Amino acid sequence: MGTIRAFVFSFLLFAISVVASAQPVAPSLSSRPGAAYTLYLNFSGFNFTGNWGSSGQAPGNMSAYRNQTGPNFTAAQQAEIRNIWSRVAESYNMFNVNVTTVDPAVSVGGLASSNYQGRQQWYDQTARVMHAVIGNRGNSGFFNGAGGVSYVDVWRNSYSGTGNSNGIKTNWTFPSSLGGFGAYHNIFTAATHEVGHAAGLSHQGDYTGSTQNNAYSTNNGSSTLAPFMGVGYSASRNTWSVGRISTNQNTIQNDALRIRQNSGMGGFINDGIGRSIAQATPISLSNGQIKPLVNQGVIVPVSDSNPNPIGSNNYTRGYFSFETIGGLNMITVNAGTQWLQTGVADPHRSLDATLRILDALGNQVAISATSSLSETIAINLAPGLYYIEVSSAGGKNASLGPSGTWAPRQFYDMGAYFLTGTILAIPEPTGATLLCIMITGVVFVRRRNV
Ligand SMILES: [Zn+2]
Repeated sequence: MGTIRAFVFSFLLFAISVVASAQPVAPSLSSRPGAAYTLYLNFSGFNFTGNWGSSGQAPGNMSAYRNQTGPNFTAAQQAEIRNIWSRVAESYNMFNVNVTTVDPAVSVGGLASSNYQGRQQWYDQTARVMHAVIGNRGNSGFFNGAGGVSYVDVWRNSYSGTGNSNGIKTNWTFPSSLGGFGAYHNIFTAATHEVGHAAGLSHQGDYTGSTQNNAYSTNNGSSTLAPFMGVGYSASRNTWSVGRISTNQNTIQNDALRIRQNSGMGGFINDGIGRSIAQATPISLSNGQIKPLVNQGVIVPVSDSNPNPIGSNNYTRGYFSFETIGGLNMITVNAGTQWLQTGVADPHRSLDATLRILDALGNQVAISATSSLSETIAINLAPGLYYIEVSSAGGKNASLGPSGTWAPRQFYDMGAYFLTGTILAIPEPTGATLLCIMITGVVFVRRRNV
């Protein structure tokens, strides 16, 4: 018997090691480490135990991204994962949320990555954690045809733990139903949408009176802007919105407010950039070039309790100060994050920015508020102190329906930005250089004057 047990034991170990090595590890990416809420984007595959919640359907063993097996993703696959992560991370950038590819059940919970059942339970039982799997179906019949699926209002401060709650804090995004792996736009909008459900959001729809025109709002067929909680595959830009979620005309959902209201979420995030001229953040330069990684921020609604998408004054503003020796200065506010490449805006931009240059008294010297999301000002300035003001374009109203009567919808213009450009600034020499300038200035200039 002892021999048989030993054999069985070693066989089990073998089986476990095979499963562990079959799971490729994603690059470690975290948008906001230490945030109150955690969104774990799992690209490594997941072997689900049993039926998913009360659905009566078994997800099975979902593949890793591009059906890759372990231990590593290729460099190209890692680049694709970064592309999707960066887009979802910007979607949730205004909230106290860390969008990460690092599995908290392993890094915090101390579980082996091969312990799928243990991890499944850990996600369910751990406050403020959501597990979003992005890969192909293990069970081909599991919500076949859907781009993704999620339980609603499960990403919360506490675990309800009643009834058929198995795995309800795991949700799913299926690239095979979204144009395939590499279809970043479709995949990230679907993942953001499913996680939005988990955060308590319902579908934003298009309505005329009590008639539903589209269960999933397309912003009345817009190719430029659609709500995350509608369907955004055909629109180039997707944002959180405010609008109707049912045929009852009184059921208005404010996406940003509802996400922020999750217990323990706190207010919209504070980027630490001065929010007035008096508190302006001194700009940081390197040889006259604006440093993009230092001069960056996130524009959010001013009000935590009553965020309003329409009106520039309903959003925070970022102020930077600089001194110029005079001449041509060029300043760009780039809408978006720069996680993929420093100084270059990532593809998904939540913010539509407005840029102003103010003089030392706060009077407007120049403004750029074009239809582009990013703005540039190139201007000859007299020597002196100036301020850069970054603000929101102030939101968008929905495209009108065919008869102009479809229910109103509003879109947020909020999110990340960073500055680039050239400031003709007074050089900041080192101590040794300063000494040299003083000596030559005093000695030689005076001799010439004599
Ligand atoms: Zn949905």
